[in-house]
Amino acid sequence: MKIQCPFLIKYKAIQYINITGIIYKCNLGNALLKSADLRKKWACGGCPVPWIINNKPCSYLKPHKTFLIRGSSKTWLSCELLNIVMDSSGDFCHLNCKIYEQNIFKK
Ligand code: SF4
Ligand code: SF4
Repeated sequence: MKIQCPFLIKYKAIQYINITGIIYKCNLGNALLKSADLRKKWACGGCPVPWIINNKPCSYLKPHKTFLIRGSSKTWLSCELLNIVMDSSGDFCHLNCKIYEQNIFKK
């Protein structure tokens, strides 16, 4: 994750013998993460959500994430206008939607 994710918060500081560890929380997937997890592909390191948000997508596009088992996650998108779910690439918007084209030209 090279850009800031709006869903990532510092959740708790834990005092060890000589260091303080920070526990983070992914508010999108409702999961607690260690600082080392932030670089892991299954967590923030491989997550497309910050890039999608930073790209100022269509206002109907909503990201979703679930961490069913620690060490794995699933990310997907939904369109609140058309009531559909799609994979995290957003290709459906690019390829099929007139609203996407209109938004692009407004930027
Ligand atoms: S896992 Fe993705 S959505 Fe969750 S805090 Fe990390 S970068 Fe953000
Ligand atoms: S399908 Fe169209 S309306 Fe729906 S999120 Fe994508 S660009 Fe927006």
